Amino acid sequence: MKALVYTDTLELQYREEPKPVAGSDEALIEIEAVGICGSDMHAYHGHDARRVPPLILGHEAVGVVQNGQQKGKRVVLNPLITCGHCNHCQGGRSNLCAQRELIGMRRAGAFAEYINIPERNLLDIPQDMDATIASLAEPAATSLHAVYLAEKIIHRPLSECRSLILGGGSIGVFAALMLAHKGCTTIYLGDTNPLRRETAEKLGCATVYDPLGDDLPETASFDLVVDAVGSGRTRAASSELVAAGGIISHVGLQDNEPGLDTRRLTLDEITFLGNYTYSVIDLRAAIDLLYNGALGPLDWVETRLLADGAEAFREIHEGKAASPKIVLRP
Ligand SMILES: [Zn+2]
Ligand SMILES: [Zn+2]
Repeated sequence: MKALVYTDTLELQYREEPKPVAGSDEALIEIEAVGICGSDMHAYHGHDARRVPPLILGHEAVGVVQNGQQKGKRVVLNPLITCGHCNHCQGGRSNLCAQRELIGMRRAGAFAEYINIPERNLLDIPQDMDATIASLAEPAATSLHAVYLAEKIIHRPLSECRSLILGGGSIGVFAALMLAHKGCTTIYLGDTNPLRRETAEKLGCATVYDPLGDDLPETASFDLVVDAVGSGRTRAASSELVAAGGIISHVGLQDNEPGLDTRRLTLDEITFLGNYTYSVIDLRAAIDLLYNGALGPLDWVETRLLADGAEAFREIHEGKAASPKIVLRP
């Protein structure tokens, strides 16, 4: 089969790889569409010690089952493989399983024509669902999970909150769309990339600004700040911009540099809320929202051929990709 293989820092090769063979309780999936994630970029930059080349990356995938009882069915993959029997898995928080493992990290990912995955990681989708839209289930579920965790503890309904999103990649964009869907009318979104800002403007639900410019939002004014970048700089910005009693929802994983103002967090009773991925329920909810058009037209997503994947990675790396999400089709 053909696959896009991460072979070295800033290097991907589209080449022939052995077609996987399904083990027992595994499904062989023919990939229809697979999105490029910020974490794939992180690996491509050589910054992820967990992803060692040569490796097929990619985990935001939809495809057709090739074997077993579900043969012929179109499914979204839950890329998070967990033990299934610990307290977290049994309690509906499988994303916290100590055995959790994402595809495209140690085992092969989905930038390929085929992939193997445990059968219990297959999620039903409406069979007429567009493949590109279905591949958005994973990033959409990540944002949905973050908004949901914040919503459970925030002091006022989200519709009455002032929200800020740092980062206009797909997680940031989906967070804005989720908040708008929940009735939040004051949403700001900051991104340093002018192309990304242009795309975010078109969503029509957020006031978009340049964090490096002069026209910055008022400090200490946001009930909810979603950090979809996760760098020292964005943690510093979050610490400044969040209102007293507010929430910093931390989703991005860019670096582990200092920036968080723990003194202000303490004195102003600010909640710092870590988020990692999603539960199966979040994924199912995201599929429903995407299928039902609840998150708008999604015309900001770009589709390309898997064969042209290396070029797409390069463009994202160079900040030349205007779309917050490029989906590859084998
Ligand atoms: Zn992802
Ligand atoms: Zn578990």
